[in-house]
Amino acid sequence: MSKISIIVPMYMEQDVVNSCYDRLTTVLSSLKSYTYELIFIDDGSTDETLSMLEEIANKDFKVKIISFSRNFGHQAAVTAGLKEANGDAIVIIDADLQDPPELIPDMLILWKQGYDIVYGKRKRRKGESAFKLFTAKVFYNTLNALSDVDIPKDTGDFKLVDRRVVDVVNAMPEHNKYLRGLFSWVGYKQKSIEYDRQERVAGKTKYTLSKMCKLASNGIIGFSSKPLKIVGGLGVFSILVSVIVLIYSLVSYFIGGPHLSAGWTSIMVIITFFSGIQLLSLWVIAEYIGKIYDESKARPQYIIDKKINIDDNKT
Ligand code: UDP
Ligand code: MG
Repeated sequence: MSKISIIVPMYMEQDVVNSCYDRLTTVLSSLKSYTYELIFIDDGSTDETLSMLEEIANKDFKVKIISFSRNFGHQAAVTAGLKEANGDAIVIIDADLQDPPELIPDMLILWKQGYDIVYGKRKRRKGESAFKLFTAKVFYNTLNALSDVDIPKDTGDFKLVDRRVVDVVNAMPEHNKYLRGLFSWVGYKQKSIEYDRQERVAGKTKYTLSKMCKLASNGIIGFSSKPLKIVGGLGVFSILVSVIVLIYSLVSYFIGGPHLSAGWTSIMVIITFFSGIQLLSLWVIAEYIGKIYDESKARPQYIIDKKINIDDNKT
């Protein structure tokens, strides 16, 4: 019998703890051919979240709790859950029930068909402010324009992931993980399921603007070296400008065109030329730093899906 692990990060979710547990349990206990565990991560809440979870865990031994010493953020909470989960399939879901747990059986069907990652794709997003929708849109578009991997739009962290993919992600030592990016980066057979995103059952969003910005910066910096290259492009542009100014002033000097002051011309040429050189040198240094950064993330160079006619256990 396969086991499913459900990972639920929670920060200040006292208003949704009970309904979250109830809905998940209803769905999961209806699945006759699976066992399951529920892993709740309390991300340093200062409200009643933890005590309510403890009460549930005292009655239901399928419930595991990890409690952080302070608020480390959503990605850290999910990362801790992934390390703890021991199921054959692992589901990540928000506590606020914006993503319907009722979709889990459908995800399992696709998993049984051989998909390693089944992710939820939001068709519509109900009850979210125009500001939230706008920032989300700007975020996904910027990330996709800058990033080196194709991160599917309008997907959150709601997904089912096969054990072996979780093992690969767990083995990556990088901090500041941007999990959506990583799950897309690892490859494997992936499939999306569309759904309407609901309103929060209760409480307010815990993703403040500053948390969103941090997530966006982790996403962009973790998956793209384009910002480094932009510096190089600016350098080339500066040098081009300096050459144009130089040619223009020489030509106008010799053919007696409009008399630019010699002082202005030489200062312009020197400033643009040398700032170009500086930006280009910065670019070279940035490329090296980029490589060091890449190495320090220590992501595997490749991930093998399967081997055929190769026996790894031979001596
Ligand atoms: N969350 C968390 N730590 C944080 C912020 C959020 O564990 O610092 C959890 C939160 O409890 C919820 C999930 O991450 O289960 C998504 O947060 P939220 O629903 O507030 O984000 P939104 O859906 O508005 O993007
Ligand atoms: Mg939410």
